[in-house]
Amino acid sequence: MENFKKFNLNDDINKSLKGLRFTKPTEIQSRTIPIALKKQDILASAETGSGKTAAYLIPLIQHIKTKENVLGIILTPTRELAQQVADVAKLLIGYKSGINIALLVGGSSIKNQLDRLKKRPKIIVGTPGRINDLITRGSLSLKHFNYFVLDEADRMLDMGFGIQVDKIVINISKKRQTLLFSATLPKEIIQLSRKYLSNPERVEVQENNVIKSQIKQKVINTKTEEKYTKLLDEITIRKGSILIFVRTKYATEKLKKRLIKDKIKSSAMHGDLRQNKRDRILENFRKDRFRILIATDIASRGLDIPHIEHVINYDLPQVPEDFVHRIGRTARSGSVGEALSFVTKNESKMWKSIEKLLDQLKKPNKKYKHENTKQYEKVENTLDDKFVKKRNRKNKYKHENTKQYENIEKTSDDKSVKKRYRKRKKNRSKSRKYNS
Ligand code: AMP
Repeated sequence: MENFKKFNLNDDINKSLKGLRFTKPTEIQSRTIPIALKKQDILASAETGSGKTAAYLIPLIQHIKTKENVLGIILTPTRELAQQVADVAKLLIGYKSGINIALLVGGSSIKNQLDRLKKRPKIIVGTPGRINDLITRGSLSLKHFNYFVLDEADRMLDMGFGIQVDKIVINISKKRQTLLFSATLPKEIIQLSRKYLSNPERVEVQENNVIKSQIKQKVINTKTEEKYTKLLDEITIRKGSILIFVRTKYATEKLKKRLIKDKIKSSAMHGDLRQNKRDRILENFRKDRFRILIATDIASRGLDIPHIEHVINYDLPQVPEDFVHRIGRTARSGSVGEALSFVTKNESKMWKSIEKLLDQLKKPNKKYKHENTKQYEKVENTLDDKFVKKRNRKNKYKHENTKQYENIEKTSDDKSVKKRYRKRKKNRSKSRKYNS
């Protein structure tokens, strides 16, 4: 049976993996760890639930433990996901390792985070807002950070973090290894990868783009005014933990109050709550202290709570992709789960779009496979970041075997590059003459 031994990992990591009961790598781990250990960039499509966190953390920790001067920064779109990543990193590193981790997220005490930074963390996990804040204050320098993970990149863009991420990347070491993970690979993500990655290996774990087969789906077409009674019926007949999604922050609180009136204990989670309250609610839900959590799409990605047995879409999401993420909160780590969706007349258009997306996800994603070829040419036309342009230009020439030196002289506007290649050309013809 395939296990982690084939990666020749450090003994401490093997011990931690044993402690975590990770006996064999998941598909994304099998495919990305060897590439990341070779220090290559990776563009991976895999979502939470696939084991992607360990897929990027194991190589980082291996580099830190075996090589000097490796520092890692992991950007996640939500505070909850950052917390989860930091927790996994701590478990993998092992206690008493002397390797510090800093969790830098908004809504938490900045003073504590500044204290963590003074301890020279080798791994930083955080959300774009707080990290930028710390950079702007001059409290955080990323120039020596050379292992960069952009987690849930599609979610980052959906949440409008594109510019913030750009600002952070400029501050990270240019001699870095970059790993970009995204649940989906739309055009925008491919463009982002051209900007941040250098000659990346593409890893697609198809099954994670597809609705897990062990999720039983049910749809109830209903009128808005009948929705609540039907929800009560559904809650009563179901056993186990339930995650209910509604569209707005206000709706989470409103539904919670109605359920409490009907003597059903639940909690509401949304972006307006203070971070420590959000953490407490999640912790209590994780520990099974209450059965029903009502949330906005803030909880649709990243949450890894194995015992969620039911996801109820009380309101449909605003974008079809969030539906896939929502229902992915159940049937975690191979267990079974159920997804129930209420669809009112007003939501019928959105439901159609969701069905269309679900259909598409059942088909293999061929579209982007063909896009790689012209990658470097395109990037030169579209980017304005000088360094990225230069790096990609270099890569372009690495891949063009024929007429390498001639081409660069004709097209390059970078004097030093031109000079270097002219010199090489000269040396080449000298040695040819000598050999002939
Ligand atoms: P992730 O996609 O990183 O959120 O991981 C999803 C879940 O899979 C988490 O509960 C992990 O603890 C678990 N997991 C990750 N890798 C492995 C593995 N190799 N074997 C068993 N469970 C794993």
